[in-house]
Amino acid sequence: MTTGYICNIQRFSVHDGPGIRTTVFLKGCTLRCFWCHNPETIRPRPEVQFFANRCIGCAACVDACPEGAQGFDENGLRIFDRAKCVACGKCVDVCYAEALVFTAKAMTAEAVVAEILLDRAFYDNSGGGVTLSGGEPALQVEFSREILERCKAAELHTAIETAANVPWESLAALLPVTDLVMMDIKHMDSAKHRDAVGAPNALLLANARRLAETDKPILFRIPVIPTVNDTPEEIAAIAAFIRQLTELRAAQHNGMAGQPVPITLELLAFHRMAGDKYNSLGWEYRAANLTPPTKEHMAMLMDVAAAQGAVLHGR
Ligand code: SF4
Ligand code: SF4
Repeated sequence: MTTGYICNIQRFSVHDGPGIRTTVFLKGCTLRCFWCHNPETIRPRPEVQFFANRCIGCAACVDACPEGAQGFDENGLRIFDRAKCVACGKCVDVCYAEALVFTAKAMTAEAVVAEILLDRAFYDNSGGGVTLSGGEPALQVEFSREILERCKAAELHTAIETAANVPWESLAALLPVTDLVMMDIKHMDSAKHRDAVGAPNALLLANARRLAETDKPILFRIPVIPTVNDTPEEIAAIAAFIRQLTELRAAQHNGMAGQPVPITLELLAFHRMAGDKYNSLGWEYRAANLTPPTKEHMAMLMDVAAAQGAVLHGR
């Protein structure tokens, strides 16, 4: 039985794969996308979030903290000295207002799946299932593998959401128990990719090619981020790469019965709803001044992607 770090188990998800699903957000990612909508999943170990707007000023955390990390300044404002915090959780335990919370908790795979199975009737009725997201599920590969194995044993549809910036062996270990792979690509220019997310794109593009050589359905979910990849040229480059993967899969399938398993593309518009999470972590929200793309701009980019020969999801 394996244990891993879970940030959240979100029931009744309708945006993370087909049907009604439970999405399990795992802790830890290899990328550092500055706009990340789930920044609490990025670091591999749990840390304490402080939501100042929930704080009722009871001072229980100040008394509980053995490191002197919690306090009030001379004006009565709550301060959290993160440099002193050793993540012991004593302040979290006494904060009944839930202004202090851990980003993640340790759980066994068995316990995660027990929670997933609570909604089995919804999966059965909607064609849904379970999605492992993050963070990067392939980072906690043994833990993810056991969750997916247990879900498959319970005859649930399984999906992973991955950035694929991991060794191929980690992804390959999950594939036998995964029905759908959802992957994102942020930029085809490696230097621009590194500027935006802190790593070049060679590894994930190589993994995308290897995924195309499997028989797994792949849905590429491309976040459209102003100043990063929201021009027609940038989306066209990503869509052309995905079309090449489709052609690669079709060539492999040549002579076999039926159609090749689909590779599709979806564009997801940037939004600014994660700002509060960055504040709670004491991080700068570098996407605060970005303007979300309009519906018209997204529609234009979808037309651009389709013109490149990529198959748009849902069209
Ligand atoms: S225990 Fe929670 S509510 Fe009370 S002062 Fe600390 S953060 Fe605020
Ligand atoms: S987690 Fe522990 S060390 Fe960190 S602020 Fe809370 S009580 Fe202090």
